Amino acid sequence: MDAFLELGRQIGTMFGRYFVLASILTFILLFFKYKSIRVRLLRSEGVQWQQIRRELWHSTIAIVIMVLTFVGILSIAVALGFERPRPSQVEMGLAGTLISYFLILIAHDAYFYWTHRAMHSRYLFRTFHAVHHRSIRPTAWTAYSFSMLETVVTAAFFPIYLLIVPVPLAAVVAFGLTQIIWNAASHSGVELSPKFLIVGRHPFNMTGAVHHDIHHRYGRYNFGLYFRFWDKVMGTEHPDFEKLFRYVTSSEYASDVYERDRSALAQ
Ligand SMILES: [Zn+2]
Ligand SMILES: [Zn+2]
Repeated sequence: MDAFLELGRQIGTMFGRYFVLASILTFILLFFKYKSIRVRLLRSEGVQWQQIRRELWHSTIAIVIMVLTFVGILSIAVALGFERPRPSQVEMGLAGTLISYFLILIAHDAYFYWTHRAMHSRYLFRTFHAVHHRSIRPTAWTAYSFSMLETVVTAAFFPIYLLIVPVPLAAVVAFGLTQIIWNAASHSGVELSPKFLIVGRHPFNMTGAVHHDIHHRYGRYNFGLYFRFWDKVMGTEHPDFEKLFRYVTSSEYASDVYERDRSALAQ
Protein backbone atom coordinates (compact mmCIF):
# COMPACT_ATOMS: atom_id res chain seq x y z
CA MET A 1 0.00 0.00 0.00
CA ASP A 2 2.87 2.32 0.87
CA ALA A 3 4.35 1.79 -2.60
CA PHE A 4 1.05 2.84 -4.22
CA LEU A 5 0.84 5.93 -2.02
CA GLU A 6 4.42 6.83 -2.97
CA LEU A 7 3.63 6.37 -6.69
CA GLY A 8 0.55 8.58 -6.32
CA ARG A 9 2.59 11.22 -4.52
CA GLN A 10 5.22 11.28 -7.27
CA ILE A 11 2.62 11.47 -10.04
CA GLY A 12 0.82 14.24 -8.13
CA THR A 13 4.04 16.23 -7.66
CA MET A 14 5.00 15.99 -11.35
CA PHE A 15 1.51 16.87 -12.50
CA GLY A 16 1.33 19.77 -10.04
CA ARG A 17 4.59 21.27 -11.30
CA TYR A 18 3.52 20.87 -14.93
CA PHE A 19 0.05 22.31 -14.30
CA VAL A 20 1.19 25.32 -12.27
CA LEU A 21 3.97 26.23 -14.71
CA ALA A 22 1.85 25.82 -17.83
CA SER A 23 -0.90 27.93 -16.21
CA ILE A 24 1.54 30.71 -15.28
CA LEU A 25 3.00 30.73 -18.81
CA THR A 26 -0.50 30.82 -20.34
CA PHE A 27 -1.34 33.85 -18.20
CA ILE A 28 1.89 35.51 -19.35
CA LEU A 29 0.83 34.81 -22.95
CA LEU A 30 -2.60 36.33 -22.33
CA PHE A 31 -1.02 39.31 -20.59
CA PHE A 32 1.29 39.96 -23.56
CA LYS A 33 -1.56 39.46 -26.01
CA TYR A 34 -3.68 42.17 -24.46
CA LYS A 35 -0.87 44.62 -24.01
CA SER A 36 -0.74 47.16 -26.81
CA ILE A 37 2.90 46.34 -27.53
CA ARG A 38 3.44 42.60 -27.79
CA VAL A 39 7.07 42.35 -26.82
CA ARG A 40 8.61 38.90 -27.38
CA LEU A 41 5.31 37.23 -28.26
CA LEU A 42 6.01 34.74 -31.03
CA ARG A 43 2.47 34.25 -32.32
CA SER A 44 -0.58 36.41 -32.70
CA GLU A 45 -3.39 33.88 -32.58
CA GLY A 46 -3.48 33.78 -28.76
CA VAL A 47 -4.41 30.76 -26.69
CA GLN A 48 -5.66 27.73 -28.63
CA TRP A 49 -7.90 26.03 -26.07
CA GLN A 50 -8.74 23.00 -28.23
CA GLN A 51 -5.05 22.27 -28.78
CA ILE A 52 -4.36 22.72 -25.06
CA ARG A 53 -7.08 20.17 -24.20
CA ARG A 54 -5.35 17.56 -26.40
CA GLU A 55 -1.92 18.43 -24.97
CA LEU A 56 -3.17 18.25 -21.40
CA TRP A 57 -4.63 14.79 -22.06
CA HIS A 58 -1.40 13.42 -23.59
CA SER A 59 0.73 15.08 -20.89
CA THR A 60 -1.34 13.60 -18.06
CA ILE A 61 -0.91 10.07 -19.44
CA ALA A 62 2.78 10.78 -20.08
CA ILE A 63 3.35 11.89 -16.47
CA VAL A 64 1.88 8.61 -15.16
CA ILE A 65 4.07 6.61 -17.59
CA MET A 66 7.15 8.68 -16.66
CA VAL A 67 6.78 7.89 -12.98
CA LEU A 68 6.10 4.19 -13.73
CA THR A 69 9.18 4.05 -16.02
CA PHE A 70 11.32 5.72 -13.35
CA VAL A 71 10.15 3.41 -10.57
CA GLY A 72 10.16 0.37 -12.89
CA ILE A 73 13.78 0.79 -14.02
CA LEU A 74 15.03 1.35 -10.45
CA SER A 75 12.99 -1.61 -9.13
CA ILE A 76 14.35 -3.94 -11.83
CA ALA A 77 17.91 -2.79 -11.08
CA VAL A 78 17.44 -3.37 -7.34
CA ALA A 79 15.87 -6.82 -8.01
CA LEU A 80 18.94 -7.69 -10.10
CA GLY A 81 21.11 -6.79 -7.13
CA PHE A 82 22.35 -3.48 -8.49
CA GLU A 83 23.34 -1.34 -5.50
CA ARG A 84 22.66 2.34 -5.85
CA PRO A 85 23.33 5.11 -3.35
CA ARG A 86 20.08 6.95 -2.48
CA PRO A 87 20.31 10.68 -3.30
CA SER A 88 19.47 11.46 0.36
CA GLN A 89 22.62 9.53 1.39
CA VAL A 90 24.95 11.31 -1.05
CA GLU A 91 26.85 14.22 0.56
CA MET A 92 28.89 16.50 -1.69
CA GLY A 93 28.93 20.01 -0.21
CA LEU A 94 27.84 23.08 -2.17
CA ALA A 95 30.49 22.99 -4.91
CA GLY A 96 30.03 19.25 -5.45
CA THR A 97 26.25 19.66 -5.62
CA LEU A 98 26.55 22.45 -8.22
CA ILE A 99 28.97 20.41 -10.34
CA SER A 100 26.69 17.39 -10.03
CA TYR A 101 23.70 19.49 -11.17
CA PHE A 102 25.54 20.81 -14.26
CA LEU A 103 26.76 17.31 -15.12
CA ILE A 104 23.18 16.02 -15.16
CA LEU A 105 22.12 18.90 -17.42
CA ILE A 106 24.99 18.20 -19.84
CA ALA A 107 24.29 14.45 -19.86
CA HIS A 108 20.53 14.96 -20.25
CA ASP A 109 21.13 17.46 -23.06
CA ALA A 110 23.24 14.92 -24.99
CA TYR A 111 20.75 12.10 -24.33
CA PHE A 112 17.84 14.27 -25.46
CA TYR A 113 19.58 15.54 -28.61
CA TRP A 114 20.50 12.09 -29.89
CA THR A 115 17.27 10.28 -28.97
CA HIS A 116 15.32 13.24 -30.40
CA ARG A 117 17.24 13.09 -33.67
CA ALA A 118 16.74 9.32 -33.85
CA MET A 119 13.00 9.80 -33.31
CA HIS A 120 12.97 12.19 -36.28
CA SER A 121 14.22 9.41 -38.59
CA ARG A 122 11.54 8.22 -40.96
CA TYR A 123 11.55 4.77 -39.31
CA LEU A 124 10.69 6.07 -35.85
CA PHE A 125 8.93 9.40 -36.31
CA ARG A 126 5.38 8.17 -36.76
CA THR A 127 5.35 5.70 -33.84
CA PHE A 128 7.46 7.72 -31.40
CA HIS A 129 7.37 11.44 -32.03
CA ALA A 130 4.39 12.40 -34.23
CA VAL A 131 2.11 13.07 -31.22
CA HIS A 132 4.46 15.80 -29.96
CA HIS A 133 4.66 17.40 -33.42
CA ARG A 134 0.89 17.62 -33.82
CA SER A 135 1.47 20.96 -32.09
CA ILE A 136 3.00 23.03 -34.90
CA ARG A 137 2.58 26.13 -32.77
CA PRO A 138 3.33 24.70 -29.32
CA THR A 139 2.06 25.97 -25.97
CA ALA A 140 3.42 25.49 -22.45
CA TRP A 141 1.01 22.52 -22.25
CA THR A 142 2.94 20.76 -25.08
CA ALA A 143 5.79 20.15 -22.59
CA TYR A 144 4.86 16.50 -21.90
CA SER A 145 2.59 15.91 -24.88
CA PHE A 146 4.28 12.67 -25.95
CA SER A 147 3.23 9.29 -27.28
CA MET A 148 3.63 6.41 -24.80
CA LEU A 149 6.78 5.12 -26.55
CA GLU A 150 8.42 8.55 -26.59
CA THR A 151 7.57 8.94 -22.90
CA VAL A 152 9.39 5.72 -21.98
CA VAL A 153 12.48 6.79 -23.99
CA THR A 154 12.42 10.27 -22.42
CA ALA A 155 11.83 9.02 -18.88
CA ALA A 156 14.53 6.30 -19.03
CA PHE A 157 17.35 8.84 -18.79
CA PHE A 158 17.16 9.84 -15.15
CA PRO A 159 16.83 6.44 -13.39
CA ILE A 160 19.69 5.05 -15.54
CA TYR A 161 21.81 8.10 -14.69
CA LEU A 162 21.06 7.69 -10.97
CA LEU A 163 22.12 4.05 -11.17
CA ILE A 164 25.49 5.02 -12.65
CA VAL A 165 26.32 8.35 -11.00
CA PRO A 166 25.78 9.27 -7.31
CA VAL A 167 23.73 12.49 -7.17
CA PRO A 168 22.90 14.47 -3.99
CA LEU A 169 19.22 15.15 -3.26
CA ALA A 170 19.50 18.93 -3.80
CA ALA A 171 20.83 18.33 -7.34
CA VAL A 172 17.98 15.88 -8.05
CA VAL A 173 15.38 18.47 -6.99
CA ALA A 174 17.13 21.30 -8.90
CA PHE A 175 17.33 19.16 -12.04
CA GLY A 176 13.63 18.18 -11.81
CA LEU A 177 12.60 21.83 -11.54
CA THR A 178 14.97 23.05 -14.29
CA GLN A 179 13.74 20.36 -16.64
CA ILE A 180 10.05 21.26 -16.42
CA ILE A 181 10.60 25.06 -16.23
CA TRP A 182 12.83 25.04 -19.32
CA ASN A 183 10.60 22.59 -21.18
CA ALA A 184 7.37 24.53 -20.56
CA ALA A 185 8.99 27.93 -21.24
CA SER A 186 10.54 26.69 -24.51
CA HIS A 187 7.09 25.66 -25.73
CA SER A 188 5.20 28.67 -24.36
CA GLY A 189 5.25 30.95 -27.43
CA VAL A 190 6.82 33.82 -25.45
CA GLU A 191 10.58 34.31 -25.46
CA LEU A 192 11.36 34.99 -21.80
CA SER A 193 15.10 34.18 -21.80
CA PRO A 194 17.62 37.00 -21.38
CA LYS A 195 19.69 37.66 -24.52
CA PHE A 196 22.93 36.85 -22.72
CA LEU A 197 21.79 33.29 -22.06
CA ILE A 198 20.92 32.58 -25.69
CA VAL A 199 23.33 34.58 -27.85
CA GLY A 200 25.96 35.85 -25.36
CA ARG A 201 29.63 35.20 -26.04
CA HIS A 202 30.16 32.11 -23.86
CA PRO A 203 30.27 28.34 -24.52
CA PHE A 204 26.94 27.58 -22.78
CA ASN A 205 24.44 29.31 -25.10
CA MET A 206 21.00 27.95 -24.38
CA THR A 207 18.02 27.20 -26.64
CA GLY A 208 14.75 28.90 -25.54
CA ALA A 209 11.32 29.56 -27.07
CA VAL A 210 12.40 30.96 -30.48
CA HIS A 211 14.82 28.05 -30.92
CA HIS A 212 12.23 25.38 -30.13
CA ASP A 213 9.44 27.14 -32.03
CA ILE A 214 11.59 26.81 -35.16
CA HIS A 215 11.92 23.10 -34.42
CA HIS A 216 8.14 22.63 -34.25
CA ARG A 217 7.62 24.69 -37.40
CA TYR A 218 10.22 23.01 -39.65
CA GLY A 219 11.02 19.69 -37.92
CA ARG A 220 14.54 19.43 -39.32
CA TYR A 221 16.38 22.09 -37.31
CA ASN A 222 17.10 22.75 -33.63
CA PHE A 223 16.91 19.37 -31.87
CA GLY A 224 18.63 20.54 -28.65
CA LEU A 225 16.97 20.79 -25.24
CA TYR A 226 18.97 23.12 -22.95
CA PHE A 227 22.09 24.04 -24.88
CA ARG A 228 22.75 24.97 -28.52
CA PHE A 229 25.99 22.96 -28.38
CA TRP A 230 24.94 19.81 -30.24
CA ASP A 231 22.98 21.66 -32.91
CA LYS A 232 25.99 23.88 -33.56
CA VAL A 233 28.47 20.98 -33.62
CA MET A 234 26.27 18.76 -35.81
CA GLY A 235 25.18 21.58 -38.15
CA THR A 236 21.47 21.14 -37.36
CA GLU A 237 20.77 24.66 -36.11
CA HIS A 238 18.54 26.84 -38.28
CA PRO A 239 20.91 29.16 -40.18
CA ASP A 240 18.86 32.27 -39.29
CA PHE A 241 18.23 31.41 -35.64
CA GLU A 242 20.39 34.17 -34.12
CA LYS A 243 18.96 36.74 -36.53
CA LEU A 244 15.41 35.69 -35.66
CA PHE A 245 16.11 35.69 -31.93
CA ARG A 246 17.65 39.17 -32.05
CA TYR A 247 14.72 40.44 -34.09
CA VAL A 248 12.05 38.99 -31.74
CA THR A 249 13.78 40.51 -28.71
CA SER A 250 14.32 43.94 -30.34
CA SER A 251 12.27 47.12 -29.97
CA GLU A 252 11.92 47.05 -33.79
CA TYR A 253 9.94 43.79 -33.49
CA ALA A 254 7.72 45.28 -30.79
CA SER A 255 6.84 48.29 -32.95
CA ASP A 256 6.39 46.10 -36.08
CA VAL A 257 3.86 43.95 -34.20
CA TYR A 258 2.15 47.07 -32.84
CA GLU A 259 1.88 48.57 -36.33
CA ARG A 260 0.52 45.30 -37.75
CA ASP A 261 -2.16 45.15 -35.06
CA ARG A 262 -3.11 48.78 -35.60
CA SER A 263 -3.55 48.28 -39.34
CA ALA A 264 -5.51 45.05 -38.73
CA LEU A 265 -7.84 46.97 -36.40
CA ALA A 266 -8.26 49.76 -38.94
CA GLN A 267 -9.47 47.36 -41.65
ZN1 LIG B 1 8.67 20.35 -28.46
ZN1 LIG C 1 10.97 16.91 -32.60
